[in-house]
Amino acid sequence: MTQTPSTPMTTTAEDEAVRICKELIRIDTSNYGDGTGPGERAAAEYVMGLLQEVGLDPQLTESDPGRASVVVRTEGRDPGRGGLVLHGHLDVVPAEAADWSVDPFAAEERDGMIWGRGAVDMKDMDAMLIATLRQLARSGEKPPRDIVWAFFADEEAGGDKGAGHVVAQHPEWFEGCTEAISEVGGFSVTLPDAATGAPTRAYLLQTAEKGIAWLRLHARGRAGHGSVPNEENSIVRLAEAIARIDAHPWPRTYIASVRELFDGVAQIVGSTWSEDNLEELLGRLGGARRFVEGTLRDTANFSMLTSGYKHNVIPQKASASLDCRFLPGHEEELLATIRELAGEHVEVEIVHKDVALEAPSSGELVESMKRTLLKEDPGAHVLPYCLSGGTDNKHLSRLGITGYGFAPLRLPDDLDFVGMFHGVDERVPVDSIRFGTRVLGQLVADC
Ligand SMILES: [Zn+2]
Repeated sequence: MTQTPSTPMTTTAEDEAVRICKELIRIDTSNYGDGTGPGERAAAEYVMGLLQEVGLDPQLTESDPGRASVVVRTEGRDPGRGGLVLHGHLDVVPAEAADWSVDPFAAEERDGMIWGRGAVDMKDMDAMLIATLRQLARSGEKPPRDIVWAFFADEEAGGDKGAGHVVAQHPEWFEGCTEAISEVGGFSVTLPDAATGAPTRAYLLQTAEKGIAWLRLHARGRAGHGSVPNEENSIVRLAEAIARIDAHPWPRTYIASVRELFDGVAQIVGSTWSEDNLEELLGRLGGARRFVEGTLRDTANFSMLTSGYKHNVIPQKASASLDCRFLPGHEEELLATIRELAGEHVEVEIVHKDVALEAPSSGELVESMKRTLLKEDPGAHVLPYCLSGGTDNKHLSRLGITGYGFAPLRLPDDLDFVGMFHGVDERVPVDSIRFGTRVLGQLVADC
């Protein structure tokens, strides 16, 4: 057969990923968490169109009007193998346009980057997945295993209207699936190589995520006139509980993913670490240390406070909101500690709670992710890490699906990637999207 010069398919997928990322950013899917946003329907319909155009038959499902998610399955060669879920979320956190240097929903391309809300969280990965899927559909090839491609609503508010809804209402769409891949992993950090002193890249593969406990503390006391001494002031009781909880020294705990990350970084930079001497190693991580620091212990941060209605009335009740994040296996212990510290006059209400996850950092899928990354970036390293936040993998875990974070991006050394998440002037390098699309294309063929 004569080889005629033609544009390779990969270029098509890469170009498409860049275009789709921009078009998705231009569809405002701000999620305010109270149902007042525009919803994800327009973005979901856009995704439906892209998938139908290449002959796929995706499903669209809504939890509430406008809160739409899209799911489609592609068949693998071996139906006996567990299916893989590749998923992204279509919603974004809101953007305060006045704070930005560009219109957050214009998806301007500037300095080799696409600027806009969702550029890294996570319309970039949505676009890379859609482009990869379109390429797969056009090629007519079958990957080794079944793949369920899902684009969920509502991740930024906990996912009850998105992944939570889909998993509860349509578990059959995920039948036979054993593993999942989604966001906040697979990005590169640059470290100095011990042997050469030259910068070397390490990709952080998300193998664990902390659990969430959003608590509300209610202090009760005796209401009364502001001029009369009161030993049972609810505000004082609450303030004392807040001070006790805030002062609590949550012990450092090194879970397997964190230890492996530190061992790996130490090996690359030619240093050592110990539980008492972490500072140097954390410093080597640059901006990514902010992702890592939150995974060294359980945390409890106060975020809202309410009490009182008139200057001369001592209120009967005072309340505070507490955002707790716990490491795998720490849920009960954290809740017991908070209850004890809150004391007898303060009731602890659980507003929202979700599991912590830890997946194996070895195995076929992990090897496949490593292999495809290193093929595109030879000489780089891949290390596991734990995410201090949460992802839709929590919802999929209810179906027994093991989740990873792997949205592959080769990043410039000086980009504050962690700061992009929910940050002002969120942006993603165009080259990183092209890189990620190549990696995902190979992963699909290799998984
Ligand atoms: Zn996200």
